[in-house]
Amino acid sequence: MAGALLLWWWAGRGWLLEVNGYPVGVVASPAVVQAAVAELAKTTRLPGKVKLKDQITYRRLWWPCRQVLSLAELKERLRGRLSFCAEAVAVEVNGRPCFFFSDEATARAFLEEVRRLYTVKPGVPASFAEKISLVKKEVPLGKLMTLAEALKLVKEGERVEEKYTIKEGDTFWDLAVSLGLSVEDIIACNPNLDPWHLQPGQEIKLVRERPYLTVVQSYTERREEEVPFPVQKEYTDQLPPGKVEVVQPGVPGKCEKVYEVVAQNGREISRRLVETREITPPQAQVERLGRRILLASRGGGHSGLIWPASGPITSPFGPRWGGFHTGIDIGAPYGAPVIAAASGRVIRAGWYAGYGETVDIDHGGGVVTRYAHLSAIYVGVGEWVVQGQRIGSIGMTGRATGPHLHFEVIVNGVPRDPQRYLP
Ligand SMILES: [Zn+2]
Repeated sequence: MAGALLLWWWAGRGWLLEVNGYPVGVVASPAVVQAAVAELAKTTRLPGKVKLKDQITYRRLWWPCRQVLSLAELKERLRGRLSFCAEAVAVEVNGRPCFFFSDEATARAFLEEVRRLYTVKPGVPASFAEKISLVKKEVPLGKLMTLAEALKLVKEGERVEEKYTIKEGDTFWDLAVSLGLSVEDIIACNPNLDPWHLQPGQEIKLVRERPYLTVVQSYTERREEEVPFPVQKEYTDQLPPGKVEVVQPGVPGKCEKVYEVVAQNGREISRRLVETREITPPQAQVERLGRRILLASRGGGHSGLIWPASGPITSPFGPRWGGFHTGIDIGAPYGAPVIAAASGRVIRAGWYAGYGETVDIDHGGGVVTRYAHLSAIYVGVGEWVVQGQRIGSIGMTGRATGPHLHFEVIVNGVPRDPQRYLP
């Protein structure tokens, strides 16, 4: 009788297995569970190093011994329910763990590979802009990366979600261009938005790609460059007006320039010139220009001058209101073009007392033309202008009662009657 009772007692005992407090099944003994966990751990990538993260507890209970779980059944139930973790080496970027490797050697190889990937200048040290540290950490097995997986992540960059508040006048298309995204990307992030009717103050979501790591290279670069040759102009009476003859062709020089370059992730972000050393100086080109232009006035042939503005002469050269009008006034609408009457060098460009905004052009041989009362000036002192080039706009600056061009022809410092030179 006692023996039968004992047999019943022994046969009816089981262990209720709980994982993290949740019942999983009844087993014959904790040893079966340990065997199942050990076999599951073996199927992971790092069988030797993994630790079980879950809490396993047992409760004794009465249970018909024929109905306990077999090892195979138990493994099936535990698969996917257990999470293993491993001691990993985390690569922290500015204190944030981003990449996880099973050992330090792989972590170091990874950083070396990223550095190599973004090196533009071999032999120049490459450093990370971010603060990088290797930290030992226990992480779930699924977070561990192979070298190839981590490198793929680096190449893709990190997707960061940002919010953007619509400003007056924004359109999806302008936004896409200024943010470096495609319109499709922006629409995909904001499926409920009507791209045709953006409201100022409205918030939209943007997903942008940001690099995890920034490899910086700073180096100096020496480069041979060409130096353009200067042009020396000589005026001559032997050539017709406006005609140019090259007496001696110019030869460009050579110099060595030293730049300080900074590259980030393989892209040059700044280049500064720090030194220029001449190797061979350029040889100037010598040109002869026909200047006969202004020495012959009307009647004696063609002077070469063209009208600086189109319009009637509203006030001629000569005595006027008890004084002397040193040029001609050409009536033209405000803002109309004023052009160079002949080629030459600009010797004045700016405000000149009663003349207002004024341009003077030196044509060589003591001949200067003057354009006064301008509303705008398009040339600067020292600039070479060609006949017909726009130099300004009709205005009424200085002593002028209405918009017009006051035009002078000055020969050896003496104003002459421009009409005698104009066609
Ligand atoms: Zn005038």
